[in-house]
Amino acid sequence: MTEPQATVLVVEDEESFVEALSVGLKREGFLVRVAKDGLEALTLFDAVQPDLVLLDVMLPQLDGVDVCREIRSRSKTPIIMVTAKSAEIDTVVGLEVGADDYITKPYRLRELVARMRAVLRRAPRREEAKTSGPTLKVGDVQLDPERHEVLVRDQEVSLPLKEFDLLELLLFNAGRVLTRETLIDRVWGPNYVGDTKTLDVHIKRLRSKVEDDPSVPQRIVTIRGLGYRYERDS
Ligand code: CA
Repeated sequence: MTEPQATVLVVEDEESFVEALSVGLKREGFLVRVAKDGLEALTLFDAVQPDLVLLDVMLPQLDGVDVCREIRSRSKTPIIMVTAKSAEIDTVVGLEVGADDYITKPYRLRELVARMRAVLRRAPRREEAKTSGPTLKVGDVQLDPERHEVLVRDQEVSLPLKEFDLLELLLFNAGRVLTRETLIDRVWGPNYVGDTKTLDVHIKRLRSKVEDDPSVPQRIVTIRGLGYRYERDS
């Protein structure tokens, strides 16, 4: 059985370089898409959903470091960064932008392909990646439903299942008031017969994890007589 073809998004502004690279990668069995600047890279990334990104550091519009950060904020797709000088690698690695590997120009196609195959082997399988629900992000709180991960100010926070479900519902509806009934219904199920204080206890625990000062909630606010609202990023 042959492996499915991997799509690689090549982000590179030097046209002569791109042409030779594209031909070489196609010959190696990759599907190749090319973005010529950082903004185009982000647009194409969303449209194409590549299996791998080959990202030059020096780019017009938005540089490779910013593109890498932006892609990382929404996806775990492998990224190999391409630098012009080996000294740049140290800088890029020092910035901890989240790339999976680095390569310095000039490089041999064979070396590049070997690294590409290596990061693809380590990456989550394509089918798994595709089923991932969209990551919810409001301000500095980020929730990934499929990976069951919550980041608050870039720090991972562990949440029990019900707190996680509650936060997901609140973030998804950020800016809207959710009534107590709706929250209990959606998180505990329509047949829930327990004490309604359970909701308040869970809200309190969530606040202790996502609020700067849980005694003065700025994110999960109480709407008296109705329910709760997760505040949009201001
Ligand atoms: Ca460049």
